[in-house]
Amino acid sequence: MKVPFFDYPSFYRSHQEWLRPVIDDVLNRGTFIMGPEVAEFEAKLAAFLGVQHAIGVGNCTDGLMIGLVAAGVGQGDEVIVPSHTMVATAEAIHFVGATPVLADCGEDHLVNVDAVRERLTPRTRAIVPVHLNGRVCDMDAITELASEHGLAIVEDAAQALGGTYKGRAGGSFGIAGAFSFYPAKLLGAFGDAGAVVTKDDTVADDLRALRNHGMDHDGTVVRWGINVRMDSLHAAVLSAKLDRIEAEIDRRREIAIRYEKGIGQVEGLVHPPSATAEGDHFDVFQNYELECDRRDELIAYLAGHGVGTNLPWRGKAVHQHAALGFDAATLPRTEALFDRVFMLPLNTMLSDDQVDYTIETVRTFFGI
Ligand SMILES: *Cc1c(COP(=O)(O)O)cnc(C)c1O
Repeated sequence: MKVPFFDYPSFYRSHQEWLRPVIDDVLNRGTFIMGPEVAEFEAKLAAFLGVQHAIGVGNCTDGLMIGLVAAGVGQGDEVIVPSHTMVATAEAIHFVGATPVLADCGEDHLVNVDAVRERLTPRTRAIVPVHLNGRVCDMDAITELASEHGLAIVEDAAQALGGTYKGRAGGSFGIAGAFSFYPAKLLGAFGDAGAVVTKDDTVADDLRALRNHGMDHDGTVVRWGINVRMDSLHAAVLSAKLDRIEAEIDRRREIAIRYEKGIGQVEGLVHPPSATAEGDHFDVFQNYELECDRRDELIAYLAGHGVGTNLPWRGKAVHQHAALGFDAATLPRTEALFDRVFMLPLNTMLSDDQVDYTIETVRTFFGI
């Protein structure tokens, strides 16, 4: 049996029937740029997340950048961000002229408030919490720290569509929150796409202008902007897929529970927080990220038996990219984690048989 980590062509192959008419429709009408499909998707997404405004953009990195600009972040500012994130989070900060300041992670692999507090300086202007693996950060603590120090919050919710903390959607806590619809993300487009959301009407106007050459709805240039628009084609596909999101999330949680039941007791494996735990979090399992002392041996064994795995960010936290010039080894927990961390396949193209085969292969590796 083969269990690919992520099978890119598989989704279209098995859902052509309802996807092809959606795509044909946009092509036939020719509403390629800022067509009605974009506004329709934005309205649906905002309703799903319980926010007032969603603004479609080219990708999540774009969303983070204009979110930071709308939050007033710029030259001379420091922005605190976890080092366990995609380089995209830090680069968005860099390209608005600010300095990314990297923080360590906690036991659940997410940035925690103590790690953020350690990094505060008089120049700190904002925090970018990253809701990794479909789990929302402890936003009570982060919000409290931010208001204590007058800091803006811009959320990287690239991996957390539908994840909640105390019943509130990840991405809805700060001034702005950015989502990714990269093909392998929970809501995946057939290419790059993203969104930035906000509850604030003024910020929303700003974001809409920022993404489209600084223009308001009449086409009047009201500020400096740029072109980071979402294509209508992606918006139409994403709208149709968003209608089926509850089933997508249910299935992801079902697979997480299957892993937990099958290999949750294996000594030598550290699992993500349980999907069935009572508490403040509702996790959507964008990834199933584990820790293992024998990681390299285990992933080689799995590969030999047809099971694909992956390392987050190809095995490097942001501060470990030498070319970016961060001080090495100031983040002990992140350093230790990146020697042990890996991901098992988790997506809705997987059958129960594939998940069970993965579980059996892991059990065999550990001799049980
Ligand atoms: C995928 C991802 C991004 C980047 O999203 P794009 O849509 O590719 O720009 C940023 N942050 C995190 C945590 C991600 O997982």
